[in-house]
Amino acid sequence: MASHIVGYPRMGPKRELKFALESFWDGKSSAEDLQKVASDLRASIWKQMTDAGIKYIPSNTFSYYDQVLDTTAMLGAVPARYGWTGGEIGFDTFFSMARGNASVPAMEMTKWFDTNYHFIVPELGPDMTFTYASHKAVNEYKEAKALGVDTVPVLVGPVTYLVLSKPAKGVDKSFCLLSLLPKVLAVYKEVVADLKAAGATWIQFDEPILVTDLDSQKLQAISAAYAELESALSGLNVLIETYFADVTAEAYQTLTSLNVVTAFGFDLVRGTKTLDLIKGGFPSGKYLFAGVVDGRNIWANNLATSLDTLNSLEGIVGKDKLVVSTSCSLLHTAVDLVNETKLDNEIKSWLAFAAQKIVEVNALAKALAGQKDEAFFSSNAAAQASRKSSPRVTNEAVQKAAAALKGSDHRRATNVSTRLDAQQKKLNLPILPTTTIGSFPQTVELRKVRREYKATKISEEEYVSAIKEEIRKVVELQEQLDIDVLVHGEPERNDMVEYFGEQLSGFAFTVNGWVQSYGSRCVKPPIIYGDVSRPKAMTVFWSSTAQSMTKRPMKGMLTGPVTILNWSFVRNDQPRSETTYQIALAIKDEVEDLEKAGITVIQIDEAALREGLPLRKSEQANYLDWAVHSFRITNVGVQDTTQIHTHMCYSNFNDIIHSIIDMDADVITIENSRSDEKLLSVFREGVKYGAGIGPGVYDIHSPRIPPTEEIADRINKMLAVLERNILWVNPDCGLKTRKYPEVNPALTNMVAATKLIRNQL
Ligand code: GLN
Ligand code: ZN
Repeated sequence: MASHIVGYPRMGPKRELKFALESFWDGKSSAEDLQKVASDLRASIWKQMTDAGIKYIPSNTFSYYDQVLDTTAMLGAVPARYGWTGGEIGFDTFFSMARGNASVPAMEMTKWFDTNYHFIVPELGPDMTFTYASHKAVNEYKEAKALGVDTVPVLVGPVTYLVLSKPAKGVDKSFCLLSLLPKVLAVYKEVVADLKAAGATWIQFDEPILVTDLDSQKLQAISAAYAELESALSGLNVLIETYFADVTAEAYQTLTSLNVVTAFGFDLVRGTKTLDLIKGGFPSGKYLFAGVVDGRNIWANNLATSLDTLNSLEGIVGKDKLVVSTSCSLLHTAVDLVNETKLDNEIKSWLAFAAQKIVEVNALAKALAGQKDEAFFSSNAAAQASRKSSPRVTNEAVQKAAAALKGSDHRRATNVSTRLDAQQKKLNLPILPTTTIGSFPQTVELRKVRREYKATKISEEEYVSAIKEEIRKVVELQEQLDIDVLVHGEPERNDMVEYFGEQLSGFAFTVNGWVQSYGSRCVKPPIIYGDVSRPKAMTVFWSSTAQSMTKRPMKGMLTGPVTILNWSFVRNDQPRSETTYQIALAIKDEVEDLEKAGITVIQIDEAALREGLPLRKSEQANYLDWAVHSFRITNVGVQDTTQIHTHMCYSNFNDIIHSIIDMDADVITIENSRSDEKLLSVFREGVKYGAGIGPGVYDIHSPRIPPTEEIADRINKMLAVLERNILWVNPDCGLKTRKYPEVNPALTNMVAATKLIRNQL
């Protein structure tokens, strides 16, 4: 019985690759230094899998930045602006595409399916020539082979690659990207020939696009692509991997009819309906790579349950054709539990990071082969039982309160226009009120203060006075700038989710549980392991301190329940909706405490609401329903005169605009400037919006200072589609990653532009 791993994290157990990349980018180390760190990491991963007994070990899942960009390099699909003139693509061209350089901006990046990993979007058009310009796949195969490991080289599949790409600038938006398939396949054939010549006997194509809602044209592209590759692939075992959700019945049909494919990989953690498709018929003589170990979470596998699933599959596909695998690449989970020095042993026994998941996969394969490691299985069963019965996990009062929410509606008693009138009487704001999203620049000194307080190197008194001082500076600055609704700047927060997680019960934190987000950037999601409750107020002290420093309204600043959920590792022992309802109740208490403390404007950020949207359309309505409901629960208890704001990041809102309206916030600030003002087009098309809205007037992701006229122009564009009395003026997002020399002039211009337009109204 065999075992397989779809892919492995690249960053290293202590983010070695991140530091090597950043040092190279800063000119502090050489290309050779970087390559050495990378090859050491690869070697240790291959060794680890070999030692664990994994049979099908992947190669080419390493990347210096992103596997989709690696594919772009492999195909020589470099946009003309990077001035690449042919030959093997090196670091210069590669990192210019990824990050831009002094004269040319980077290529766009976007989310990889419904994960928090971002890939670099290929820019293609009818004039693009494709040539074999990066031999990374074969080089990694050979590198492993030289170390004595015969690997399965992994390529992003040609159809997934093309469907995820976008028409280059100047190319007609309706250009059919799939029409490039023959040209792209010509290069894939060369790569395959190279891999064969190097001795590969297996090859893996990742085609996660197969779990999305595919039209018949795209399904035909799958059939056509692999038919076209048939002769090139002959003699190789071909695995097509799908992951992140169920495949549709049509996709399953298309996939399993492919002649040249010998093995199919399915995500059986997220794709539970796929099991029924397999049970309904699986092509004889082919391999099933059964993804039973979750690649997207940090929980130890329930080995007994997985073994049952595998046993039932064995009856269908045959003993020698069943391969135990991960649900997707382990890229989306943390790296190694061994480095977690701060988690207690009980919680640790419930967890498995990538390194531990490899061992689980192999233990399952051995058990199927009749060599069950009884000790391993029984300690796993004991851990599962302890998690189930632990009083740290269950809080009955919370369970009851959350259960009571289901099936109810929760809306504020009066409608938004009545509320806005009541609020305006109290707040007396000018037309086109100005505000910011919450955070102000996080300086080196500020980080130091927080770090030293955490390490108990400075007293609470010293810490509080340093933070107060920072708030005072931010308040004074905003008054000088003449901003209407102020923020305290969030100096006490390291991260908008961690800050709340640390104060709520049911959360645990890792020291090294990093997951790659993009390039060298990683996030360290909290772990929600138990029922969530709020032992005491979390933000009231800071918000009321800030309010006491000014007569202008000071926004209370909270992170919403859906965002806390989507940016954490979540429980797998209850539905996501239930966990979110619990968080919503905790935030509701905080909202009401802020109101009691005299805070009249409260912002509840739902930066990541859009991110949690399921891949399949059939599941989206249900998600939006409980997500929006959870948001409303947080503020259903406030008076009409308390103004509830929310904020959302990311530019793709048009398809969920009705859900955004259904959140029933009084004011929403929303990213707008990076998306060519796509957001405004929904209003142009006549969507009715009665609440306050502040589409961002400038991009905070760039150090560029937006000129006054440009901002004024933006505001005018908004006035053309939105009524003047609901429009707010604010940047796209929080300012914490910017520096004061950028923030001061940018906000000065924002206020100047607003006043200019107010005078014209
Ligand atoms: N209030 C948060 C901030 O300003 C919002 C951040 C976000 O939207 N990602 O930093
Ligand atoms: Zn934002």
